[in-house]
Amino acid sequence: MELTTKAGSVMNKLPAEPDLTIPIQYLKGVGPKRGELFHKLGVKTVKDALYYFPYRYEDRGNIKKIARVSFGSYETVSGTVIRAENITTQRRRMKLFELTVKDDTGAITGVWFNQPYMSRVFHEGDRAILYGLVKQDPYKHYRPVMENPEYEIIDESGDETIHTGRVVPIYKATAGLTCRQIRSVMKGVVDEFAPRLGEFLPEEALRKYKIPMLPVAVKEAHFPERETDINLLNAKAARAQKRLIFDEFLLLELGLMSMKKGRAKTSGRALKGNGGLRREFRSRLPFRLTQAQEKAIHEISRDMERPARMNRLLQGDVGCGKTVVALMAALQAVEAGAQAALMAPTEILAEQHYLNIKKYLAPSVIKVTLLTGSVKKKDRETALKELAEGEAQFAVGTHSLIQDGVVFGSLGLVIVDEQHRFGVMQRAELSNKGIRADILVMTATPIPRTLALTVYGDLDISVIDSLPPGRPPVRTKLFDDSGRPEVYRLLRGELQAGALGYVVYPLVEESEKSDLKAAKEGAEKLAKIFGEYPVGLLHGRMKPEEKESVMEDFRAGKTRLLVSTTVIEVGLDVPEATVMVIEHAERFGLSQLHQLRGRVGRGGRQSYCILMAGKTADNARARLQAMLKSSSGFEIAEEDLKLRGPGEFFGTKQSGLPEISYGDIIRDYKIIEAARAEASDIIERDPELRSDMGRALSRELKEKWKDRLDLIKIS
Ligand code: ADP
Ligand code: MG
Repeated sequence: MELTTKAGSVMNKLPAEPDLTIPIQYLKGVGPKRGELFHKLGVKTVKDALYYFPYRYEDRGNIKKIARVSFGSYETVSGTVIRAENITTQRRRMKLFELTVKDDTGAITGVWFNQPYMSRVFHEGDRAILYGLVKQDPYKHYRPVMENPEYEIIDESGDETIHTGRVVPIYKATAGLTCRQIRSVMKGVVDEFAPRLGEFLPEEALRKYKIPMLPVAVKEAHFPERETDINLLNAKAARAQKRLIFDEFLLLELGLMSMKKGRAKTSGRALKGNGGLRREFRSRLPFRLTQAQEKAIHEISRDMERPARMNRLLQGDVGCGKTVVALMAALQAVEAGAQAALMAPTEILAEQHYLNIKKYLAPSVIKVTLLTGSVKKKDRETALKELAEGEAQFAVGTHSLIQDGVVFGSLGLVIVDEQHRFGVMQRAELSNKGIRADILVMTATPIPRTLALTVYGDLDISVIDSLPPGRPPVRTKLFDDSGRPEVYRLLRGELQAGALGYVVYPLVEESEKSDLKAAKEGAEKLAKIFGEYPVGLLHGRMKPEEKESVMEDFRAGKTRLLVSTTVIEVGLDVPEATVMVIEHAERFGLSQLHQLRGRVGRGGRQSYCILMAGKTADNARARLQAMLKSSSGFEIAEEDLKLRGPGEFFGTKQSGLPEISYGDIIRDYKIIEAARAEASDIIERDPELRSDMGRALSRELKEKWKDRLDLIKIS
């Protein structure tokens, strides 16, 4: 491997970076108009351009003799222009530019439609390369022809070709800016500026991971060397690409690790507690905690007792019983004289947590406050005052908890339920309300450990890996409309046995109204069919009080069937419910379906999840099949990850983490592991990033993490 290329040695002497901020429009061949178009592609500066990589490559380097080309294949040929003229066809009066190129074995014609200016590009006697799909021309004795081929004129200087005659980069283009134009600009940018990219990896690392220096990597990712394997390139597995992917993950891991380190430095509070509240809480629970729950409680408790700040993820499938674990943690904080806050993604869920706490703790023992968007102004003021003065020990709410004006007198623990609904930044905001508060986040989306470490790399992880005993797995069935009578029979049977059921309608993105209409009509229809069993209706447009009263009726069994739009998706816990009917199941995402299924099977009775789906696209069918095949959240999550891809799955865009645009969390997991190892070496060797390399790295980190950096606290 060449570690000391020409580019490398030059680079070390040049003041790295500053020129790379030059706005793209100032480059030769760009200008303000094209500059705008580059902006559309996310390319604003020279550095952006260097990092605007091709999404695929074409091998146009294998030059064929014209007599040997195969019809129906993409081929590259090279020869002399013997004819170049604009013509108008006799038959359909189309305007064409025709070019004939000849080599020592034969001739081929290139045709361009409605591009008369092409006649100014080519001249007889030019040496040219053409690349395109070879067809037979029925009007010309079935001789070979290429329509709109890629082309290049080889000039005297003997400069390398960039559009043909090699492995060629294909860039995502946009209206008004072709791939070819981008490629031309890129060639200039890469030649002039790639050598000025500052290296931030030590030589040992380059040697160890067998990856090239940064300037070389960037150059080769755009314009690969002759011998580079096209298949490797298109699989993003060529050396140069590996280096760039490595960088992306290294910066992610370093950022996450610094976040973690920064927290370890800000000492938290040792929240010990005498166990009194927890004992009372336990004694009122109608069940024994599972071993998995006990283990999680122990890990969390031990963390909270330490003066270092806790930042822990509690992961466990829907229904495994995360809430009690969270409440135990909250009580420990309260015992220790601190306040605890629990943030849930929906009002219904916040209310439910609130009710749970009240159910399991005598009211005199601790003061709990509910803070959601719909709390009345006067109650809100009281709540704010109680929180500020530390009189209320436990706050439960929605993201109202992180709004300005909410001040905690002595916040010791922050719990975030269904954390995948929130971003890293929201989490950070809540924890900033208590400068040294411990943090516990909960999620029902179990993911493989490597991935967890990457996505939640700044967290410690506790896992609840089993469900409470005595719960038969939910039976999942798929029906189309013809199966409705059978579905209703099943529903009726459950209702007769005293159980409750849900019927869920999907959210129709284009119009909330039609979604509401479907649910309303569904409720009316079901009310007729199941006359003696009252039907409730819950939807997103109801006022919070209305929602809560609908929920109350359902929990109390006053209504027996709850028809709903997706508002019930997360967290809802009504153990008496045994049937979940999902209308238009094909419209839901896989994780969503699993979440919905998780609303039943929470008591001892056999429960059912009924998927109603009509004709479905392949992708939807794959989701439904996954639901039929597996009831494990772990397997479902893996499948979902495969179907949706990591970007959407993790919602990295909202999560507040820097975006991974070149690497792929699944495909590149080996590189991720290497990057993590390297990141931890770097932090060990040079914790403040003060060495020369360290400073270069620190600059990259700042660029990547931007304003999030002040949360990170790197020197
Ligand atoms: P999730 O992890 O999905 O948030 P919950 O905390 O809502 O799950 O718990 C699901 C249901 O299981 C609740 O009804 C809860 O009361 C019950 N539960 C929790 N722990 C146990 C246990 N150890 N034994 C029996 N039931 C339990
Ligand atoms: Mg929950």
